[in-house]
Amino acid sequence: MAYAIEHDRMLIGGELVHASGGEFDLSINPATEEVIGRSPRGTAEDVERAFAAADAAWPAWAALTPSERGARMRAFGEALRARAEDFLRIEVADTGNTITPMRGDVGHAVDSLTYYAGLIHELKGETIPATAENLHLTLREPYGVVARIAPFNHPLMFAVARTAAMLAAGNAVIVKPPETSPLSALLLAEVAREALPAGVFNIVTGPGATVGNAIVRHPGIKRIAFIGSPQTGRAIQRSAAEVAVKHVTLELGGKNPLIAFPDTDPDIIAATAVRGMNFSWQGQSCGSTSRLLLHEDIHDAVLERVVSAVAGLRLGDPFDPATDMGPVNSRIQHEKVLSFFETARHDGSRLMTGGRRPPGERFAKGFWVEPTVYADVKPGMRLWQEEVFGPILSVGRWKTVDEAVELANSTEYGLTGAVWTNDIRNALNVARRIRSGHVWINGCSNHFLGVPFGGMKNSGVGREEGIEEMISYTEAKTINIMLG
Ligand code: NAD
Repeated sequence: MAYAIEHDRMLIGGELVHASGGEFDLSINPATEEVIGRSPRGTAEDVERAFAAADAAWPAWAALTPSERGARMRAFGEALRARAEDFLRIEVADTGNTITPMRGDVGHAVDSLTYYAGLIHELKGETIPATAENLHLTLREPYGVVARIAPFNHPLMFAVARTAAMLAAGNAVIVKPPETSPLSALLLAEVAREALPAGVFNIVTGPGATVGNAIVRHPGIKRIAFIGSPQTGRAIQRSAAEVAVKHVTLELGGKNPLIAFPDTDPDIIAATAVRGMNFSWQGQSCGSTSRLLLHEDIHDAVLERVVSAVAGLRLGDPFDPATDMGPVNSRIQHEKVLSFFETARHDGSRLMTGGRRPPGERFAKGFWVEPTVYADVKPGMRLWQEEVFGPILSVGRWKTVDEAVELANSTEYGLTGAVWTNDIRNALNVARRIRSGHVWINGCSNHFLGVPFGGMKNSGVGREEGIEEMISYTEAKTINIMLG
């Protein structure tokens, strides 16, 4: 059968291949539930072959000079850019994310390759004056074979931007794409095959429970980088620990607070709260500021504006540039969001807008939910504590700064946070007291290349997107030259 998206092979050792078991998983468009493509259902045997290829390839890759390796990475980036429209088409169809903001993903992926290509010269060791007569020095060496396990919301961007540091450090890579939006990885397989030496970049699609697990439990893959849910992150730490001593970094979920002080403009805060929810990806963004904490003096004015803006978002075809929000990514996501609506019916929060599947024939099929706002959300409620990873904004209120900080910190998460005030002392004090890894003052949502991103508490371990991400894909080797 022919599919709208025809790419259906993974990349192992420079070859475009189907899975060893010959099976496929079908990919569906979340807006229509139509089958649009298929991806190989990889196996543990495929992971073993990818490991063998990567293990054979990395020494030569690591032996390239920084300029040579950087040039290969930049060429990879340009090859991706040349196919940007194809990636965009696949990504929008497979994820349900809206087309206009999604254009940024390929650009960000290419920029990350360029950024880390330029940093390779910074893989420096140190000389340490431990004794007067000898020489003590450190070298930075790659792990060899490293793996990236990626979530469904920005599959191409994570497969490229979050492997660039691995490649820069001289490693060969195995990418495990998400099972509900794997199709862009299969075009990526074709581009990477042309741009990079065989075995340096491998892609194995398939279920987390088999392919992901085989990667995590492979004794030869010591360095694993994961982006996904806290539950899976913890399962990965457990499995990895059962087989070997591994370096596992985790970028997990968030229940991120946006604290607005009474000196801020209600119009600006309302617009920021809506932007911070990332409705263009249906709220499916780890950094979404999904808890809006409003000072009581501005609470009603901001809430009214937020509700009006959210109720006015245009739901529809993600390919239509006028659309503000598409469907959530999968049936699982859909059921999860609906379950939050159900819980909220009985918890004492106030539904302000949304809270259901949109009415009408055009939304009868597909994973549609309305963008939603609840007010009077409190720390005892599921909506306060659990990441929805969907288009639900929870609003709470506070009186004192201490109360605002306590509310902000009253979940197990600590990924991002935002503080809005014109008072510099309040801004910095609160920013420092929020137990989150990434805080915006008078901002929200943006990531900046080179600026570390990652979570505190159960939102993760490790920092990505800056130079320390590249260093984290190396091990230090100490050499003592005894001269005395
Ligand atoms: P998920 O945890 O369900 O899956 C992520 C990946 O892990 C998928 O590729 C999946 O196949 C794989 N996997 C599943 N079980 C596995 C196992 N036992 N062993 C190895 N791999 C396994 O997450 P998701 O639903 O795809 O993504 C949503 C989550 O990702 C949210 O919690 C979100 O906050 C988080 N996220 C975090 C960041 C960040 O940078 N902190 C960015 C995006 C998404």
